[in-house]
Amino acid sequence: MDVRAQIVMVFNLDKCIGCHTCSISCKNIWTDRKGAEYMWWNNVETKPGVGYPKQWENQQRFKGGFVVDGKKLRLKAMGKGPTLLNMFFQPNMPKIEDYYEPFDFDYGNLAGAKDSDDQPVARAFSQISGDDIDEIQGGPNWDDDLSGSQIYAAKDMNLQDKQVVDQYDTMFMQYLPRICNHCLNPACVASCPSRALYKRGEDGIVLVDQNVCKGWRFCTSACPYKKVYFNWQSGKAEKCIFCYPRVESGQCNACAHSCVGRIRYVGVLLYDADGVEASLTGSDDQLVDAQRAHILDPRDPKVQEGARKNGITEQWLEAAVKSPVYTLVKEFGIALPLHPEFRTMPMAYYIPSLSPVLSVFGETHKLLEHGMIPALEKLRVPIGYLASLLAGGNHQVIEKALRKLIALRVFMRGENLGAPVDAAVLSDAGMDRASALKLYRLFTLAGYNERNVIPAQQREDQDPEKRKQQAGFGILEKTRRAK
Ligand code: SF4
Ligand code: SF4
Repeated sequence: MDVRAQIVMVFNLDKCIGCHTCSISCKNIWTDRKGAEYMWWNNVETKPGVGYPKQWENQQRFKGGFVVDGKKLRLKAMGKGPTLLNMFFQPNMPKIEDYYEPFDFDYGNLAGAKDSDDQPVARAFSQISGDDIDEIQGGPNWDDDLSGSQIYAAKDMNLQDKQVVDQYDTMFMQYLPRICNHCLNPACVASCPSRALYKRGEDGIVLVDQNVCKGWRFCTSACPYKKVYFNWQSGKAEKCIFCYPRVESGQCNACAHSCVGRIRYVGVLLYDADGVEASLTGSDDQLVDAQRAHILDPRDPKVQEGARKNGITEQWLEAAVKSPVYTLVKEFGIALPLHPEFRTMPMAYYIPSLSPVLSVFGETHKLLEHGMIPALEKLRVPIGYLASLLAGGNHQVIEKALRKLIALRVFMRGENLGAPVDAAVLSDAGMDRASALKLYRLFTLAGYNERNVIPAQQREDQDPEKRKQQAGFGILEKTRRAK
């Protein structure tokens, strides 16, 4: 057992209101500068929809992530031949049109225009070339709230499943906030010929060393989530840094701190770095369970011993025990990785959406589960859609998570109305009264310090040698080094 620590974010999709406050706070802090105008390290997509960059989930086109080759993993786009050929040209990288041409408006003209018979206007101009833009063709959020539109929603890669397409006309719209997943097996790290990308040993945050990056852009191609961007001004790669200067001092990320819906939870997971590659070679529908199996119980004395041996501090161990992320991901098993079939073991997790609970009026007498909620298979977000997004196509994984969410609602409704429900409602979903109350608290009442349990780094007290040993470069690199 090789115990490592990872700082992780969980998103509760039921609670995201699509306000984009998170994106704006991130933009204002990190990407409000030359060359980074088109970058949104945090973005919020409307689903179904094409997302940002457009159709990022289409790995037929972008060739991101890993594939299984025999019993091994290999980057989808790379072997030795293509690596050399692609040194100066990345054929699979999204183009600026796939993101959008960043623009601003000439507001100065409103006050400074010369006298004229015409009303002055603030024309749109490109932030890259400075040229006027006659017609804006796209934005980071272009299909926002338009999931009903045939043009955008029908191109959603998760709608390729026939069963899901059939249910499309009754589909519910939801939001999907996205940051870099700070994966356990980051494709960006594995692809970089200059070794500019690295995964920090102490907290698992994936960073680009700006002094080492040569701008080859392999990482941009290899990341299946399209969360590494190329800065056209500096000629270097850039990505979400999980607000490490904030996290190191025990504060949560700007996106999580500003989140209006309080949908985000930040905390520590301890995981076993041994055997990660083997776990990722299973079939798509086994990957959620395989990933969960690597997450370790922080209360287990053997895990604690292994953690101390690897230099994980007492403060981090304490945070791992109190981690809201552990509760949601492992204890309840309701937070799931985004597209686990990309095989990078993403470390951002999503609680699938259940809403709206009453979707089909008129027929509710046929649909009600426990007398108040439509039957699972009649919820407006088709199980197949969520399974494609969060479970490698495994319907049971989603059903299990949704059953817990339904049982919780039924139970709490009974509690609040003074008409307690049958204990079987909870036990059938694998919960009891105490665990239901714990989950309810986390979803509704938990304050900042319960939603975000972030230990400070105390870098000044750490043994630099130990830190060096811990330094991680992703699982493939670990395997290579061990050989
Ligand atoms: S999502 Fe994963 S592969 Fe993509 S940039 Fe982040 S760590 Fe790298
Ligand atoms: S701030 Fe929170 S609620 Fe608003 S869009 Fe971002 S994740 Fe969703």
